[in-house]
Amino acid sequence: MSAAASLGRAGRIVLKIGSALLVDRQTGLRRDWLETLVADVAAIASSGRDVLVVSSGAIALGRKVLGLPHGALKLEESQAAAAVGQIALAHAYGELLGAHGLTAGQILLTLGDTEERRRYLNARATVGTLLSLGAIPVINENDTVATTEIRYGDNDRLAARVATMMSADLLVLLSDIDGLYTAPPASDPTARHIETVAAITPEIEAMAGGAASIFSRGGMKTKIDAGKIATAAGASMIITRGDRMHPLAAIERGERATLFRPTANPVTARKRWIAGHLNTAGRLVVDAGAVRALRSGKSLLPAGVRVVHGEFGRGDTIIVADEEGREVARGLVAYDAAEARAVAGLRSAEIEAALGYEPRAAMIHRDDLVMERHGSAGGVATPPTRAEARIDEPLAAEPRTAQEENHAG
Ligand code: GLU
Repeated sequence: MSAAASLGRAGRIVLKIGSALLVDRQTGLRRDWLETLVADVAAIASSGRDVLVVSSGAIALGRKVLGLPHGALKLEESQAAAAVGQIALAHAYGELLGAHGLTAGQILLTLGDTEERRRYLNARATVGTLLSLGAIPVINENDTVATTEIRYGDNDRLAARVATMMSADLLVLLSDIDGLYTAPPASDPTARHIETVAAITPEIEAMAGGAASIFSRGGMKTKIDAGKIATAAGASMIITRGDRMHPLAAIERGERATLFRPTANPVTARKRWIAGHLNTAGRLVVDAGAVRALRSGKSLLPAGVRVVHGEFGRGDTIIVADEEGREVARGLVAYDAAEARAVAGLRSAEIEAALGYEPRAAMIHRDDLVMERHGSAGGVATPPTRAEARIDEPLAAEPRTAQEENHAG
């Protein structure tokens, strides 16, 4: 499949836009260009598909507005610049998307929002709600509070994490180079452009060079890192030039790009992640009606839960068993054990009274469930629904940087 076909088919797309595309050092925000990008986004959204924008540019824009000097900034200066730039950026997206009748919703993430499961579920729920309400999430790192130790650092990897968190089909990295080459094209006349990468092998990584690669400002290395995260979770990735007008339409008409194919079957990736949890934290015994609902691809609602065993937190992996004690499914629970006990057997209307706040609809959302078959972990008893086929990443199996290792929850 070509990059054009991949973009044409993807139902959920994460689009990463680099600072250099958005901000001109002399003149500030490149509004004319952004208008054409937003028009492309609007065209995709109008075909009923989801687009999430991961936009850099806060620091670059803020330093221009504040008149900070060129060159490296102190951490506090870049945080101050981000505070100023982000508001301008958000305003521009809000206005330009608004001109197409679209609503922008700003999400500022810190590393822990994707690395810690409970925060991850919260972030995913918020972004998912925005999408279901028809808004376009505009996402950036929360640079004003993220210090060196706790940051993604680059929006390539942030975008990959968002793509996996939201089960996107495709991650598009708009860059200043039209894809991956066998060698640095500026200095090596024999460098060949690579159209498709079936798997990110050590040879491919070697082509990307080190962090200070001349391939692009963000560096091809961070893009390959992003590719590893995205493709391992079942998403494709496209790298192409973003500096022309209507950069997404350019991909669709077949301008040069590199397409990275997903390495894992997305269903398998997610099922493996959930089914692969060795330490389940608890067990829910559910009635026969709930078992039938689960087998037909539905979420587990509190009403069907008879007994809650164990002490678990929100987002922990727990077992769902029938009244004979047979394991029916495993999943990530949306309530902690105390809440689960409080709402077990209750219908939605009764839950608010019991908890004192609005209930989360499902005890385990179907996106977070893996059915058991013949008692063997990881089996899928029902054909995957569309929701199940939108898979997110196997967190535990993902390549992690040393920084993530240190700071993951
Ligand atoms: N979050 C940074 C900003 O908005 C950009 C990080 C990056 O370009 O990778 O300025």
